[in-house]
Amino acid sequence: MIPLSIPQLGGNEWTYVKECLDTGWVSSAGKFVGLFEERMLAYNGSAHAIACMNGTAALHVSQLLLGVGPGDLVLAPNITFVATLNAIAYTGAEAVLIDVDPANWQLDLNVLERFLKEECDSSTAGELVHKADEKRIKAIMPVHVLGNICNMDRLLSLCETYGLPIVEDSTEALGSTYNGCHAGTFGTFGTSSFNGNKIMTTGGGGMIFTQDADLAARAKHLTTTAKTDPLDYFHDETGYNYRLVNVLAAMGVAQLEQFPGFLAAKKKMDAFYRQELAGVGDVRFQEITEGVDPNCWLFTFRTARMRELLTYLNANGVQSRPFWAPMNQLPMYAGWRYYHQEDNSSLLHAEAISIPSSSGITVKQMTEVVEKIKAFYQG
Ligand SMILES: *Cc1c(COP(=O)(O)O)cnc(C)c1O
Repeated sequence: MIPLSIPQLGGNEWTYVKECLDTGWVSSAGKFVGLFEERMLAYNGSAHAIACMNGTAALHVSQLLLGVGPGDLVLAPNITFVATLNAIAYTGAEAVLIDVDPANWQLDLNVLERFLKEECDSSTAGELVHKADEKRIKAIMPVHVLGNICNMDRLLSLCETYGLPIVEDSTEALGSTYNGCHAGTFGTFGTSSFNGNKIMTTGGGGMIFTQDADLAARAKHLTTTAKTDPLDYFHDETGYNYRLVNVLAAMGVAQLEQFPGFLAAKKKMDAFYRQELAGVGDVRFQEITEGVDPNCWLFTFRTARMRELLTYLNANGVQSRPFWAPMNQLPMYAGWRYYHQEDNSSLLHAEAISIPSSSGITVKQMTEVVEKIKAFYQG
């Protein structure tokens, strides 16, 4: 079976993790956490980084620091991994789900703009109110789906007009840039995930990025049980044990050393599939937004025969996966508002399929994947 996506652990992972074990620095203290944060900043050009236990925790804490809480609303795309919405639910807020663009699969900015214009009241400075229920909209979480990014110039300008802070769910977009700037550096907060299937991994892990020193200090505080004194056990608010442990940060440092290689491999993979699958059956690719240099994390395309193809590939040695169910179709979020004109989310879900995309995938394996797909459409 050619796997969908597996990690590459051929660098200094063993050496650095062994160093943690040999020295006993396995947990919350030790040099690798700070080193991982520093190296990540050097890579993406952000001002501050706070390592944490996973991407979901990063999204949760970012919202808390924007004052998101019970009775508030947060805008999010209807197509995302469930963690985006879970992080909203943890704060006690609800999402207003916005449909996605059928071409680039990101937040549909036309739909978003119409929502802000027609459904919201921004007449009181510093407050954006959803007219239908008089709830305050505290933030927007654009999700850089599959490493692509929406038109950030337009999103930033809309958010500026309506006074809407951004938490970028950039968990899939490490290494992606828009007009030369890295994903995760545009919003008040940006986030990373180092889950096992992401472009680089610590097994599980995440990071918060911000340009604001005070927010960074608050994020560190909140993710480390809000302890106010290095010695005394005094805590000044309900904090979280969301820190990333040293052993995993050690893996992160090793993975980041190899990251340029992972990125180059993903781009090759993407170019290969785009070339070889162009014109095959009714295959349609995700369109990359102008100005975006994507990380090509997971190759996903659309076909009207998605279910059949999925069954065929999985039965023929090519591990493949359907795309996320739209959030408005999940029982716990079905009651939240879904703002849309068409319903591109459900169409995308019905048609999108992901195929093997490991950074270690060989040309031989990709050729086999392509041959199986061609055989399916010819059969
Ligand atoms: C992976 C992912 C997350 C969450 O990351 P974890 O580290 O698994 O908690 C959030 N949002 C999106 C879009 C993701 O793909």
